[in-house]
Amino acid sequence: MSAEAGRNARRLSLLGSTGSIGEQTLSVVADFPDRFQVTALAAGRNVALLAEQIRRFRPTLVSVAEDAGARELRERLGADAPEIRVGAAGLIAVAEHEADLVVAGLVGAVGMAPTLAAIRAGRDVALANKEVMVMAGALVGREVERAGVRLLPVDSEHSAIFQALAGQRAEDVEKLILTASGGPFRTWSAEEIAKATVKQALDHPNWNMGPKITIDSASLMNKGLEVIEARWLFGVTPDRIEVVVHPQSIVHSLVEFVDGSVLAQLGMPDMRGPIALALSHPERLPLQVPRLDLATAGRLDFETPDTKRFPCLDLAFAALAGGEAAPAVLNAANEVSVAAFLAGGMAFPRIAATNAAVLDAWLDEHRGETVADLAEIEAADAWARGRAEQLLDGSGAGPRPTQEEASGC
Ligand code: MG
Repeated sequence: MSAEAGRNARRLSLLGSTGSIGEQTLSVVADFPDRFQVTALAAGRNVALLAEQIRRFRPTLVSVAEDAGARELRERLGADAPEIRVGAAGLIAVAEHEADLVVAGLVGAVGMAPTLAAIRAGRDVALANKEVMVMAGALVGREVERAGVRLLPVDSEHSAIFQALAGQRAEDVEKLILTASGGPFRTWSAEEIAKATVKQALDHPNWNMGPKITIDSASLMNKGLEVIEARWLFGVTPDRIEVVVHPQSIVHSLVEFVDGSVLAQLGMPDMRGPIALALSHPERLPLQVPRLDLATAGRLDFETPDTKRFPCLDLAFAALAGGEAAPAVLNAANEVSVAAFLAGGMAFPRIAATNAAVLDAWLDEHRGETVADLAEIEAADAWARGRAEQLLDGSGAGPRPTQEEASGC
């Protein structure tokens, strides 16, 4: 328990504490020690960083990926070690631990079960783990309603839309407009993109994020996943969701209303903004972040996304139209193909090609199907992973890291 935390401090539990979202969340918490108290942390294999976080924030429960990590943590912390749990059960324990808000900061499908556990335990959730909504948006929405908890978006685009919708009537919304930076390959030709290295794909112009999401930004798959996330978070049908490329990443997204009025949320690109809003909602914290100076910014540019060079965006709309499990299939195929690309030796366009082939094969058999429960989604996810791995076999991509390793948390 943090010695500085005030009596009315909001108690936080973090899933993915050593990843990009986790670290930035703890940086906000460190700036407002009387506002927040960290009760639980879940990390993967970065035991050294987790040990530092434990010394600083004093959670009463932590979890790591493996037994070896738990042993190392006990050695490092000695008598100062909190309760330590391991693996999938450890993630669930952290999700259900005593807290007012759970920060879902894992990357990929691994965050699905613990996020659902947090909701079922009656915790409000600050959601950065977009795959949860991508894989099972309708199901998660029902669970949120049943539990009577709040789902606060951390993704910058969805935070922007959430802010633009505040005080508005749902029936007055005409459409949601998500902005996309366009990523590092925005101005590259198809031939140049085909030769892109891992390092070039990881060189995002505006945002500081983990490797998986940075690759997704380069392919526009990230924006596609965010379209699916928006569809379920805000209950808006796909025909009323648009994407516009905005290279400066200052307008974080917009909402158009039936009277033609458009509300946008602006700010310098810094994830601490949306993270802090989710942590402190409905209040705002006086953050030490770079301020937007419009005269210095000078201009804001917008362009239509090029879905020929970046086919992943259209795949997201195809998945939304294809049935309830299709987005989970697309997401799983993408996790496998991105991990293969990150491992090296694979051409960048093969990510989109693999994703498309897996989705098409699924839609051939299952178009329009609904899902009854999480087990069906997990089965679709597993099928898609197997199919993607089959397609990528012999690509010379070498062994692939697990999602947790890829995300650095
Ligand atoms: Mg985003």
